[in-house]
Amino acid sequence: MTGETGPAPAVDSARTGSPSPDRRRFLTAGAAVVGAAASAQLRLPSAARAAESPLPEGVFSLGVASGDPLPDGVVLWTRLAPDPLHGGGMPERAVSVEWEIGDSERFGRPLRRGVAQARPEYGHSVHVDVRGLRPGREYWYRFRAGGRISPVGRTRTAPHGLSSGGALRLALASCQNWQHGYFTPYADMLAQDPDVVLFVGDYIYESAPSATAPRRHEGTGEPYSLTQYRNRYAQYRTDPDLQAMHAAAPWVVTFDDHEVDNDFAGETPQDPDKQSHDAFMARLTAAYQAYYEHMPVRASAVPNGPHIRMYRRLEFGGLARLNVLDTRQYRSDQATGQAGALDPGLTMLGTRQKRWLLDGLRESPARWNLVGSQIMMAETDLLAGAGKQWFYDAWDGYQAERNRFLKEFRKVSNPVVLTGDRHLTMVADLKEDFADPASAVVGAEFVGTSVSSNGDQDQAAFRKEWDPRMPDNPHWKLLDAHRGYHLFDIRQDGIDARVRIVDTVLQPRARPTTLARLRVDAGRPGVRVV
Ligand code: FE
Ligand code: CA
Repeated sequence: MTGETGPAPAVDSARTGSPSPDRRRFLTAGAAVVGAAASAQLRLPSAARAAESPLPEGVFSLGVASGDPLPDGVVLWTRLAPDPLHGGGMPERAVSVEWEIGDSERFGRPLRRGVAQARPEYGHSVHVDVRGLRPGREYWYRFRAGGRISPVGRTRTAPHGLSSGGALRLALASCQNWQHGYFTPYADMLAQDPDVVLFVGDYIYESAPSATAPRRHEGTGEPYSLTQYRNRYAQYRTDPDLQAMHAAAPWVVTFDDHEVDNDFAGETPQDPDKQSHDAFMARLTAAYQAYYEHMPVRASAVPNGPHIRMYRRLEFGGLARLNVLDTRQYRSDQATGQAGALDPGLTMLGTRQKRWLLDGLRESPARWNLVGSQIMMAETDLLAGAGKQWFYDAWDGYQAERNRFLKEFRKVSNPVVLTGDRHLTMVADLKEDFADPASAVVGAEFVGTSVSSNGDQDQAAFRKEWDPRMPDNPHWKLLDAHRGYHLFDIRQDGIDARVRIVDTVLQPRARPTTLARLRVDAGRPGVRVV
């Protein structure tokens, strides 16, 4: 990838000449994940030679990304799409994409390289599961196809599994509605240089284009088909701040409802009277497929029809275990009243994921046990004064299962829940039993506002609506309606959190500030404003 147009050099130019166990493992993993990716050892297959026929300028218009870091590896992503808003614009054939990763952005000495196939059935996306890297290191990567070279991405592997100290800087983001504003918080996130970005849902919104929005969704209505979802994801990925942030750090992503359909639950759409079961299954299939195609995730997330496996764990040495949930695909349909929210028959995670999470919390060797949850776990009592009123789409609507986890939290080392959905900053203590005001604090939750969803808020109107609810929710420590994200410096002795906000998302450039600093001390459940 130094500009020559001949066949690619050997697939693996590791520094030592002799094959190492690392190298063998890499070849196996590469073959399993990207099919013919590792077959270019000495000469390219014919498909790769064909790919040397030039591709148009802008073939890398969606940028590059990386994700799901391991101590020895990371997923590298790109998607060839010279005409991103109209199906992608690629020919209906597989195209070879060379990739390389090195320990300097000058690529003087690439550590690994190979060839992946960008296939039309996956929207010409490329997911390379690189292994054989060193823990806790920065790497740079890029792709080449059809004579075009991608932007350079930077990524970082997770710390060594046996490391205990150090620090992890994690950014929490969610809810980026294109039509509600520019993704200006990412410009600040880039400057803060996090080790990893956790995105907990609403990467796209499926809403129809609005003539009055600050910027308008592509297409003519809500997406239903694969091509329509591809176009929507592609439009979002053209946001320069989002694209730059993907190129700067590995992301760990999960989806919520708007990647498919507002407030859907399992196989039940928002409006079952308007979408038949078959039609919604087809919609789920298209939406999950497009999601996979645009996210830097492993082959374990390749969808199987209307199903996708997204819940998973990532380890950051002995410091932090990150449990990433799927609170959408396996849940019971939402309750419609206060009594229903208490129904022990309702599930949020489904039987298997619930067992998986309980086991992962109980058996965790990590100092910090992070849970990435799309929707809020702490109680939100919306009814000021006597009585309660809950959001049924959040954990409040599935209280039996929520309470099961809160009971478990007492035995878990430093549980912290990282959440999206609410389009507000809500930082709260988690209590063992929210029905009992005297019950113990067992953890902390950060609801990380939104990148752009709901746009610039009238802060006075927000306070007028929400402040009267504060006495009913004494576990709330901070409430705010600015757009932004949360930043966490995680160390053995505690987590220092900052709520980073912007003054506007209605223009492409904004002024960022720290709204608040918060602290979670290890061994002392709960969170406080400092
Ligand atoms: Fe949202
Ligand atoms: Ca109340």
